[in-house]
Amino acid sequence: MGKFPVADKALLEIWICKDCSARNPKGAEKCRKCNSKHLRPKRARKKEVKGK
Ligand SMILES: [Zn+2]
Repeated sequence: MGKFPVADKALLEIWICKDCSARNPKGAEKCRKCNSKHLRPKRARKKEVKGK
């Protein structure tokens, strides 16, 4: 639990590229830097966002 809920939420919305470690916005289909589709969420979540 961080001091700043807003910052925590922002972290949850970041996806990391497995190939180049670039940060991408949540929901990104591919890395904006290297176009890799190997993205993972910044933190593991029980629920996965389905659809988009
Ligand atoms: Zn990348």
